[in-house]
Amino acid sequence: MTELSMTVGGAALAGAGGLEVIDPATAEAFATAPAADRDQLDTAMAAAQGAFDAWRRDDDARRAALLAAADVLAAALPTLATTLTAEQGKPLAEARAEIAGACLWLRYYAGVELRPEVVQDDSRGYARITRNPLGVVAAIAPWNFPVALGLWKVAPALRAGNTVVLKPSPDTPLTTLAVGELLRPVLPAGVFNVVSGPDPLGAWLAAHPLARRVSFTGATATGRKVLAASVDDLKRVSLELGGNDPAIVLPDADPARIAEGLFWGAFRNNGQFCLAVKRVYVHRRRHAELVEALAALAGAAVVGPGHVDGVQLGPLTNVRQFRRVTELVGDAVHHGATVAAGGGPLDRPGYFHEPTVLTGVEDGVRIVDEEQFGPALPIVVYDDVDDAVARANGTSFGLTASVWSSDLDHATAVAARLDCGQVCVNAHGAGLRPDLPFGGHRWSGLGVENGRWGLESFTEPQVLVTPARPAANPGTPPAAPGDEPPAGGSAPGETAP
Ligand code: NAD
Repeated sequence: MTELSMTVGGAALAGAGGLEVIDPATAEAFATAPAADRDQLDTAMAAAQGAFDAWRRDDDARRAALLAAADVLAAALPTLATTLTAEQGKPLAEARAEIAGACLWLRYYAGVELRPEVVQDDSRGYARITRNPLGVVAAIAPWNFPVALGLWKVAPALRAGNTVVLKPSPDTPLTTLAVGELLRPVLPAGVFNVVSGPDPLGAWLAAHPLARRVSFTGATATGRKVLAASVDDLKRVSLELGGNDPAIVLPDADPARIAEGLFWGAFRNNGQFCLAVKRVYVHRRRHAELVEALAALAGAAVVGPGHVDGVQLGPLTNVRQFRRVTELVGDAVHHGATVAAGGGPLDRPGYFHEPTVLTGVEDGVRIVDEEQFGPALPIVVYDDVDDAVARANGTSFGLTASVWSSDLDHATAVAARLDCGQVCVNAHGAGLRPDLPFGGHRWSGLGVENGRWGLESFTEPQVLVTPARPAANPGTPPAAPGDEPPAGGSAPGETAP
């Protein structure tokens, strides 16, 4: 593979050091990525700071640039997807979908309105709220969806008028570096910078004095460090962290109908999905049937290298994750779990693990209590719905959840009792869209991404009060029949592609 460079100030920058990138399908290094040192990070931050003043001024230019960026990435989709599969392991079709999703986010944010909100415009005076950009955004991404989760930050940050320094995970830096290279001709120099390197680079970036806003996705333990690093400077911070997302299967659910949605809600991307179903609570009446259906799907799933046609589950992305899943499955079996499907690593090179379904497990066993982030799903039996709700909520996390039932109203009532950022009925994670806020309760995060809520999080409100409307300022937009009083931003979904 051709060596990729970092993007700093609109130009290529080679690393002060190097970073080996492993192909998880072989467990062998196949590329070297640049590793930035502190001086190089300073250069990137200074470039972003230098580009801020001009970039924040022209909203139309920013919208046009986001659309052009989406076009350039869409044109390069096949190459980007191949690189993504090579470093992350996911099947090529999913890698393509991830790049397409990143383009969707860029286009969505090009279309969202960020108008000043006029709250008073009458004989007594004029009051207006604008949403001002913050400055340099430090964006830090994990390895499970490197491009999508990076662009979730970059698109709204740039749209709001900020400039960005993005750091991908050291496990999966290549596709993000390629995105930086592709966008050099599209965005003004310094507006979008990409630096790569091992974890300490993330710590330097999060604590950097020029960063006014830190947008972080990753593990809860790391999120705490990011938050601590923001304190002296009072940096604005958002954290998208881990989860232990429950699915509750009600006694009236039909296992044959729900099994497929539930299975892929847990196993997509090998379970390396912040909002994947991580534990299932099933009513005793449905238990045997559901386990049988899930085990059949696990047994039929095609596991192999992501670039091979027809593969549905690739390897786990790194050796740490591979060992963790193996350890948690072993621990569950040691504590009496029954293996209904899978059960261990595949006997081949690379980080392959069988899709595994476990029964006979209870709360208190590690695989139920902790975030496994891998292809192993514990099924826990309950007799009483109130008890299932209490157990589902009995965690420090609160990212997403789902309720499965043939009775929409009953399921919706149960869903409303779950303490998390997103809950779906008869689907899992269906609210992952550019126009809906995504964020975790409790240890699963701080703040939200996506939609106008995510966009506004890259701004600060500024109030202007004058005795009368200044000439260059907007008046109160005429209210359409039945409209609420005027508000800034678009209605959810209004500008969604
Ligand atoms: P991680 O926290 O180890 O790393 C995430 C990023 O932070 C990487 O780029 C890493 O280099 C960087 N980093 C490491 N130490 C840092 C520090 N002290 N300061 C600043 N940055 C630092 O997480 P990971 O292993 O890459 O990702 C897996 C975790 O991410 C899981 O817990 C998963 O649930 C979570 N995740 C959450 C979401 C969400 O939206 N809620 C999405 C995807 C993944």
